[in-house]
Amino acid sequence: MIYLDYAATMPMRPEAVQAMLPYFTERAANAGALHSAGREARRAVDDARAAVARGLNADAAELFWTSGGTEADNWALLGTAQAQKERRHIVVSAIEHHAVLNPAQALARQGYEVTFVAPDREGIIRAEAVEQAVRDDTLLVSVMTANNEVGTLEPVAAIAAAAHAHGALMHTDAVQALGHIPVDVKETGIDLLSFSSHKFGGPKGVGGLYVRRGTRIDPLIRGGAQERGLRSGTENVPGIVGTAAALTAALERMPDEAKRLAALRDRMMKAVLDGCGGVRVNGSLSQRLPGNLHLTFDGIGQDALLMRLDFGGVMASAGSACTSGIRERSHVIRAMGLDGDGQADLRLTLGPDTTGEACEEAVQKILSAVFELRNHH
Ligand code: PLP
Repeated sequence: MIYLDYAATMPMRPEAVQAMLPYFTERAANAGALHSAGREARRAVDDARAAVARGLNADAAELFWTSGGTEADNWALLGTAQAQKERRHIVVSAIEHHAVLNPAQALARQGYEVTFVAPDREGIIRAEAVEQAVRDDTLLVSVMTANNEVGTLEPVAAIAAAAHAHGALMHTDAVQALGHIPVDVKETGIDLLSFSSHKFGGPKGVGGLYVRRGTRIDPLIRGGAQERGLRSGTENVPGIVGTAAALTAALERMPDEAKRLAALRDRMMKAVLDGCGGVRVNGSLSQRLPGNLHLTFDGIGQDALLMRLDFGGVMASAGSACTSGIRERSHVIRAMGLDGDGQADLRLTLGPDTTGEACEEAVQKILSAVFELRNHH
């Protein structure tokens, strides 16, 4: 099997699995318990918080654990809206994940005004476009650090400056970025940042929200007042420990790994473009995640392509995993103005276990699938 769907999720890094194991059994105490075993679990949670905060250039006190990227995104939008009722306008990019788009729609139903900023044809959200959308009553601007479908990197520092010029908050969904490219909340002026563990080799169902000190935000989840009252629920100690171990391993290898993946990605791109016509690459080539290749083939059906590749042992997707199964063109490709009839999108995302041989084999499978599908009509 050739797995080229790392943007959907990544198998856990061995370091993360090893770090987690004791916390399921001999160190299973509740981090809220006052006995020594509980205090040990609490220490593990706080050490992990410090490690992940370092990876963002944040202070540990600014980091809150959640059940993943989706909760962090929901909390950023809904929690700030709840806490700051005087501002009733929000700005989000049109290419956000549904974990941002759907809470934005929910706020619109509550009477908020929502401005969706379109990307250019390369998938870049221009800071000038955001500047035009932000107003004095804007609560928050939400633009992702890296797009999960086409892999584009967005100019979040310039966008944050545009938000701050009107006193608005800047939120970024860094779910696809953290552990893959440098992320620094201080340098970019980010107020809120979402991340998810399973995208960098940690467990699924864990993530967090960075909240700049002094930012007004209400909790979404209320209960036993864990996470300083802002996110209740017994801490997922193994998941949190695994998140820190995975991020530490990812960051250690990041400079070399980013170069390796970008080189593999570029080789694959060239081989596909040389090997067939009626294909284009989506998204900026320069402002891009190292392990992302996103292609559109003319004259073939979406499902037929993915099924044929699956049959040939190549695991890839059309766009985001969350929207596959819904037979609609990706909102990202549509927002970029690149949708047409009779096309198939193919997102190939590479990761730590991807080898050059696997990429070559995948290219051969893709080329023969495209050839066969086109010649069956
Ligand atoms: N945001 C982006 C950009 C994503 O790619 C994902 C992936 O699923 C999410 C949010 C949701 O994160 P999670 O799967 O942890 O809920």
